[in-house]
Amino acid sequence: MGCGNDKIKSFLTKPKARTRRRFEQLQEAEEQEQNQYNSKTRYRATILGLPRPIDAKGIQSTDNGEYIAYVRIRIEELDNGKPSPDTQSFDSKATLKSIASHRWALVPIEHNNLQLGEVYEVEFDTPAPIRQPYPPKIRSFVGTNTVFAENVRANIDSTTAAGRAFLGGGFSSLSSYANDHPPKERDYYLNGNQNNMITIKNGFYNTWPRDIRNYYDKTATANVGPNKTAQVISYESTVADGNFLIAHPQYNFASNLVQFATAYYKKWGHGLRIAGGGRSYDKQAELWAKFQREGYPIAAKPGKSNHGWGLAIDIHPMNKGSEYGTDETKWIIANIGKYGFDNVEGKNLSTPEPWHFTVKASLRNGILGPIRSGGQ
Ligand SMILES: [Zn+2]
Repeated sequence: MGCGNDKIKSFLTKPKARTRRRFEQLQEAEEQEQNQYNSKTRYRATILGLPRPIDAKGIQSTDNGEYIAYVRIRIEELDNGKPSPDTQSFDSKATLKSIASHRWALVPIEHNNLQLGEVYEVEFDTPAPIRQPYPPKIRSFVGTNTVFAENVRANIDSTTAAGRAFLGGGFSSLSSYANDHPPKERDYYLNGNQNNMITIKNGFYNTWPRDIRNYYDKTATANVGPNKTAQVISYESTVADGNFLIAHPQYNFASNLVQFATAYYKKWGHGLRIAGGGRSYDKQAELWAKFQREGYPIAAKPGKSNHGWGLAIDIHPMNKGSEYGTDETKWIIANIGKYGFDNVEGKNLSTPEPWHFTVKASLRNGILGPIRSGGQ
């Protein structure tokens, strides 16, 4: 009886033990794989789309202007199993959404000419799959996957907004566009010191030292009366991608703007509507292309606008430039001078942009040297 029982016992437990052992082996293998995965910070990635200026996406450069753009990438190992962009159509928003699950990566200055289909090594700050608070960074060039690039282009409908957005806005690349429209360059005196001079390029503000940009608060609140705080700035812009003004030790234009907006609120009872501020080269190129195509809105050639130097803001009290001439706008023009801005460029009939205010020329010239290069 005992013998029979043992047999039954053995029959019942052995497969169990085997299954358990197999399970443990699998678990071990998985752990090993996971450990290997966890220790990795570098991956291979293929470039999807074209670089765009960092601040447009709200991604801040983590280092002092070292990263000038971000770009959509497809990381081979991490995205294993995800739909491949070269085997499906991109004409629907839904499909683009699945591609958006691919990562953004930061592009250092030396790779600002990277192209769709190129393969790079990318680096995370911490090993995957720990949740990554910062986008990975583009490191060394590995090679080009031409077939991949051709397939992506063939599958994306560039006539749709989603397709154009995917491909990076319609111009071939930041630097090839810059060949036709070289950005103007001016000297900036660091800390106002004439002996401490650097050269800055119009619109390439991500390459400027951080401390020469002042970001004004897009939803600034201030004291506007006894026991009363209010939002004095509302920022609504499709024509700017940076809420910055150039910084100078003697003139803090960002805080001046908030002070002006506070005075404006006290007078008119509502916040100041800012419709444009600092602008990247890339954004200016996009506006210039639109202006060429549609005649509106008026835009300077890329690399030339005072917006690209953080010297200009657009104020749209009614969100319509044509409504300038009202008491409110006359008040703006009469009072903004105390804060370091004027409407000289805006009043010039050859540039019919009444909403366009710049840092006063007298102050501008104390901050930036004459134009050095990058002519018409
Ligand atoms: Zn303007």
